[in-house]
Amino acid sequence: MTGPADDFANVDFSLSVAKAGQLRAAAKEGLIERHPAFSIIDFDALEKTVARLRDAFPAHFLHAFAIKANQYPAVLETLASLGLGGEAAAPGELELAVRAGFDATRMVLDSPVKTADEIARALRLGIVINIDNFQEFEQIRGRGDLRQTGARIGFRINPQVGAGTVGLSSTATLTSKFGVGLRDPGNRARLVDTYLEHEWLNALHVHVGSVGCPLELMAQGVSAVVALATEINGRADCRKIRTIDIGGGLPVSFVSDADTPEFADYARLLEARVPELFTGEFDVITEFGRAIVAKSAFTVARVEYTKTMGGRHIALTHAGAHNMMRIVFQPAVWARRVTALNAKGEVKSGTPVEQDIAGPCCFAGDVIAHRRGLPLLERGDLVMVHDTGAYCFSNHFYYNALSPDPVYACRRSDAGDRYRFSRISAADFRT
Ligand SMILES: *Cc1c(COP(=O)(O)O)cnc(C)c1O
Repeated sequence: MTGPADDFANVDFSLSVAKAGQLRAAAKEGLIERHPAFSIIDFDALEKTVARLRDAFPAHFLHAFAIKANQYPAVLETLASLGLGGEAAAPGELELAVRAGFDATRMVLDSPVKTADEIARALRLGIVINIDNFQEFEQIRGRGDLRQTGARIGFRINPQVGAGTVGLSSTATLTSKFGVGLRDPGNRARLVDTYLEHEWLNALHVHVGSVGCPLELMAQGVSAVVALATEINGRADCRKIRTIDIGGGLPVSFVSDADTPEFADYARLLEARVPELFTGEFDVITEFGRAIVAKSAFTVARVEYTKTMGGRHIALTHAGAHNMMRIVFQPAVWARRVTALNAKGEVKSGTPVEQDIAGPCCFAGDVIAHRRGLPLLERGDLVMVHDTGAYCFSNHFYYNALSPDPVYACRRSDAGDRYRFSRISAADFRT
């Protein structure tokens, strides 16, 4: 971890009006003084993102939020109340989805390794089930008369269109672990036959990957699956495949507050490449996670101490692998903007000095920013880590028995520039 400096050379030390106001309000509420680290989720921003998502796609698109991106019950309840669906990829997530009040017709089960119990629960609920492989298909088929359920059930397809720039989040490579490989010898014919032989199979699913997958690659994967649906419907001579689930994976930019790309950019590209999705011929499901929640939250951590080591400035903070696991283990992909703040939560000024921002975990690699150019941090200062709403503090890593930090829901109050905070609890997903 002694590599090059993070690629955040043109750091913008200013903050948006909203973030600056939220920090001032958090200081006034005593949050900064009270907590070594805490996160704020801006629910107004979250609602605006949902509105942009809705506006970008036609009404026959159902947006099922990928619960793994942020599992806080308050977030899920808000998204459910806004009419979104929920995509669960494990029994605990399914439990959270049920408790958050997502309508059963808006829930999707994508667990990569479904147990018999999980399948039984999903069938009882009547939710969308995306089957991972032919053995799982047999497991589901063995469960009685599935025609009666009316549920939307189909296979997850790996279109094998290739990887993006991040191997660990590319799910459509030749040898990825998800779904049925469309280009592997014999699979296409076997899928078509299986659909034609089973009346209750009526859906298809694809998720090409997250972060690092160009939109064109994602559209290519979706296009391959729509072509398969068209082939099956042609052979069946009816609208057998009614539902196409195109997955999530819209990337998020970590270099500014702007949403790039926007949902509308992806919608335009899909409309050009896969117009069948926009005619109403299919019910379409999306499964965006990161793009819905990432930019609605930030994390503030205290600089407890500072030191130098071998000429390197190091700030010892409470932002580390426990609340930012991905950043620590794969910094080249997940590094975030960090703003240096004083103890009152105001932006620090000063000449940028290269410094490491280290966390409290007891292992050497626990560093969330490497040789980052920031005004020199001092004892008692704060670091603000941007865009932590997805796959960050909500996916807590239980190392050193460090418990999850407090999280506050923040909403603008009616009276102008003021903010209200309410502490929200972490998911208790034990079933
Ligand atoms: C992780 C995942 C998603 C969400 O991905 P994002 O990059 O957060 O949008 C959607 N669908 C499936 C099947 C996934 O595994």
